[in-house]
Amino acid sequence: MRIAVIDEGRCEPKKCQDLCMNVCPRNKLDEECIKIDGCAIIDEQLCVGCGICVNRCPFGAIKIVNTPEKIGSLIHRYGENKFALYNFPVPKKGNIIGLVGRNGIGKSTAIKVLAGELKPNLDDLPTIIRVFLKGDRTLSYKPQVLSPVNVDELDKSIVKELNITKKDNYSGGELQILNIALCLSKEADLYLLDEPSSYLDVISRMKVMNLLKSRLKDKEVIVVEHDLALLDYIADEVYLLYGSPGVYGVVSTLYPSLRGINSYLNGYLPAENVRLRREKITFDLSMQENLKIDKLISFTNIEKKQGDFRLRVKRGDIYKKEILGVIGPNAIGKTTFMELLANKIKADKGKIDKVSISYKPQYLHPDYSGLVEDIIPKTSSFRDQISYPLHLETLYKKRVDELSGGELQTLAIALCLSKEADLYLLDEPSAFLDIEHRLQLVKILQRIIENKDATAIIVDHDLHLLSQISNRILFFTGKPSKSGEAEIIPTYEALNNFLRNFNITFRRDPETGRFKANKFGSQLDIEQKNIKEFLSLD
Ligand code: ADP
Ligand code: ADP
Ligand code: MG
Repeated sequence: MRIAVIDEGRCEPKKCQDLCMNVCPRNKLDEECIKIDGCAIIDEQLCVGCGICVNRCPFGAIKIVNTPEKIGSLIHRYGENKFALYNFPVPKKGNIIGLVGRNGIGKSTAIKVLAGELKPNLDDLPTIIRVFLKGDRTLSYKPQVLSPVNVDELDKSIVKELNITKKDNYSGGELQILNIALCLSKEADLYLLDEPSSYLDVISRMKVMNLLKSRLKDKEVIVVEHDLALLDYIADEVYLLYGSPGVYGVVSTLYPSLRGINSYLNGYLPAENVRLRREKITFDLSMQENLKIDKLISFTNIEKKQGDFRLRVKRGDIYKKEILGVIGPNAIGKTTFMELLANKIKADKGKIDKVSISYKPQYLHPDYSGLVEDIIPKTSSFRDQISYPLHLETLYKKRVDELSGGELQTLAIALCLSKEADLYLLDEPSAFLDIEHRLQLVKILQRIIENKDATAIIVDHDLHLLSQISNRILFFTGKPSKSGEAEIIPTYEALNNFLRNFNITFRRDPETGRFKANKFGSQLDIEQKNIKEFLSLD
C-alpha cells in the first residue's frame, strides 16, 4: 500500500503543463494513474511508487510514501490525496496520557477527532471508535490554536493559582494560560490539551503541569507535549505517533510513559516492530565549564531601568566557544540584557565590551511572500552544516508566509546561524519544534560554535535542551515586569535551584540519560531532598 498526498495550494498544472501526468510511466501505458482536475489526482492503487512525478514536480507539491503492511484502522482522511490518520488514542479514567510525535504526524488531528470537531469521514470505522464517539462523556478541549478568553468565565481558584489578571492585551504566554485556565474551569469527563506548553516560560510550565496533576486526578486526560521532562513529569502512559509527516500518521498501542518515551528515543517501537529512525537519541549533559580560555566579553555589575522595570546583572565574563543557557520567567529582563550586549541600549550603571551579534528573536512575524529558497544562502557550507541536518530542503519550495510555526522556527534558526557574528543569540529556539528538531538544533549549534570560534546565548524553557547545550547558565530571578536579577552560575546549580523552587526531584534514566521525575513522596524523592540533590546525576 502507498499513500499519495497532493498539496493543492502548490499544485499549478497550468504553469507546468501537466508535467506529472506526462512523466508517469503508468499514464504512458494509457492508464489513468494521474489525472488533472484543477490539480493533480493520483490513483494510489495504480501508482507503483517510482517517484518520478515527485522528483519532477517543480512546485514540490507531491508526496508518495509506502506504508507498512500492518498499519491498523484508517480513522480519518482529510480527503482524496490528503493526510491519513490510522488508529485512535483511547482515554483512560484517572490517567494522564501523553501524545508524542513529530510535527505534522497527526496529533492535533487525533485530538480533534476525540473532541468531536472532526467527524471521521469513513463508513467502516472500527467498533472501539464507534462506541467511543457514541459515548455520552462531556469534554473540555484546549486547541493548539489559541482564542481570546473572558476572565470572568474562569474558575476563581484557578485564576488565583495562576496569577491571572485582567488587562487589554495579552502576550502569547498569557493567552496560553487563559486558554488552559478555561479548559480546566469546565467540569468534564475528558480533558484534551493540545500543546499546552507552547509560549509558556519554564516557571509557568511547571505551574500548569502541577495544576493539571492536582485538578484532574480522576478524569480522562490527553495531552500533546514535546517537552520530554514535562511529559515524564505528568504522563502515566503515552501514545507514540509514527509514519511520515504530512502524509500519514499511526497511533501506537498504549505504552507506560517510561518505556514509551525510551522507545521513542531509542527509535524503535517494540510492540509494533516499527523503526522510527536509525540512530538512538541520548542525552549527554554538557554541564562543564571547561572552556574558559579565550574571553569574548567582560561586563561589570550592570543596572538598567526600562520604564518601571529594573534589571541588575552581576559582573561576569563570557568565553569563546561557550554556550550560555538562560533560565528565567518571561518579563524578567532577558531581552533587555541581550540588547545591552548588542549595544542597542546603554546601561545606566556598568560597562559591557562590544561584540557583533546575530539574533533570532522570540516572536517571528514573516511578511515575505517569496519562497524559502530565495532567502537562504547558496553556499555549500550552509547546505551541509545547517540545511541538511534541519531537513530544510523540504521547505525550499514553500512560501515563507505560509510556513507552519515549526517550519518558520527552523528557517529562522538556520538564517541566524548562517550569519557571521561573534555572538549568536537565540531566543526560545525550541518553540514549536518537535523532539527530533530540538536534538538536531543542539548538534548544529555545538558544531557551529566550535568551528567558528564563536559564542551563543540560548534562552529556552526546555530543561533537557538547556542542560544538554549549556556550559553555564545565566540564571534570572525576581518579579516579572518589576525587577530582575541575573548571574552566571554552573548549569547543575541552576537546574538544582530551579527544581528546588518547585520542590520536585529528578534523576537520570540510565538507558537514555533523560530526566525522570521522582514520584512525590517516594523514597528517592525523600532521599534526594534530604541531601538537597534535586537533580541526581547518578
Ligand atoms: P500535528 O498536530 O502532529 O503537528 P496535525 O494533526 O495538525 O499534525 O496535521 C497532520 C497533517 O494533516 C498535516 O500534514 C496537515 O497539513 C494535514 N491537515 C491538517 N488539517 C488539514 C485539513 N483541514 N485538510 C487537509 N490536510 C490537513
Ligand atoms: P524577557 O526578555 O525576560 O521576557 P524583557 O527584557 O523583554 O523581558 O522585559 C522586561 C521588562 O521590561 C518587561 O516588563 C517589559 O515590559 C519592560 N520593558 C522592556 N523594554 C521596555 C521599554 N523600552 N520601555 C518600558 N518598559 C520596557
Ligand atoms: Mg498539532
